Amino acid sequence: MAGPVSKKILLVGASGRMGLAITRAASESRQLRIVAAIDRPDDGIRPPVQGRDLGTLAGLATLGVAVGADLDAALAGAAGNGETPDVMIDFSSPTATASNLAACARARVAALVGTTGLGADAEAAAQSAAARIPVLIAANTSVGVTLLAELVRAAARALPTEFDIEILDAHHRGKVDAPSGTALALGRAAAEGRGIDHDAARLPIDRNGPRREGGIGYSVVRAGDIVGEHEVVFAAPGERVVLGHIATDRTIFARGALRAADWLAIQSPGRYSMVDFLGLKTVV
Ligand code: NAD
Repeated sequence: MAGPVSKKILLVGASGRMGLAITRAASESRQLRIVAAIDRPDDGIRPPVQGRDLGTLAGLATLGVAVGADLDAALAGAAGNGETPDVMIDFSSPTATASNLAACARARVAALVGTTGLGADAEAAAQSAAARIPVLIAANTSVGVTLLAELVRAAARALPTEFDIEILDAHHRGKVDAPSGTALALGRAAAEGRGIDHDAARLPIDRNGPRREGGIGYSVVRAGDIVGEHEVVFAAPGERVVLGHIATDRTIFARGALRAADWLAIQSPGRYSMVDFLGLKTVV
């Protein structure tokens, strides 16, 4: 008897911290299989990954999927183990996101982007790709943070504007972007709840002097091996409401990304979020 149909994953940024965490999480899944792996060409500085087996890189048994650099070939099933993928999962670099989304749209392969620090080019590419394929962009693929964003939206809607909004994020020393993509997503959720324009309300990180009223501020810690911590503080004279999330293991992002990709692969073309996937719109 045939088992459940398993979704085939094309993993971009495969040999990075998240790529390897996803590889390990996928090895425990019956619904998902990685059939192709992409990372940037070897540069002679980092240990070489091109041509190496992804399973071996992740400390697992051999997977039969060699890391490559040609995304179009992987999307066409002409790389990896030779199977055509159902969905791309991209945790790589924001410089690659726009062209990766365009390539997925051409190949009609669903796209889940977990990469953060995305620019306007990625947003435009996502909009245009969504006419042909399902696209999910999530600065944070953990279930807990997705719920936190909805709680923040509700708190910002309920609390009067005399409550200052400050978002704190702490991450490991290797993180490139600051504030984190998750912190910005939480700030946007707060702005939406309060009915204000996030970019206009956003305060600079290195500000001096008294706080601008109605501003949304960001504070950042980058140190050691912190996996990811976020706190949203609503502070008024005499009281504070603090909502937060602490990730102690990046497996939560990997598992969330895989579950969302499994769901995304069978959706109609369009834009989706983790909230859509988790059906949280009815929670708060
Ligand atoms: P990392 O630096 O360990 O890994 C990134 C990998 O992508 C590296 O192997 C790198 O060689 C590769 N890469 C870079 N440019 C590429 C390109 N043009 N094409 C293909 N591969 C390329 O970083 P990480 O900690 O794994 O994080 C990756 C991204 O995911 C970051 O943007 C990070 O902020 C984000 N992230 C998101 C979540 C989430 O829940 N959505 C969680 C953790 C990290």
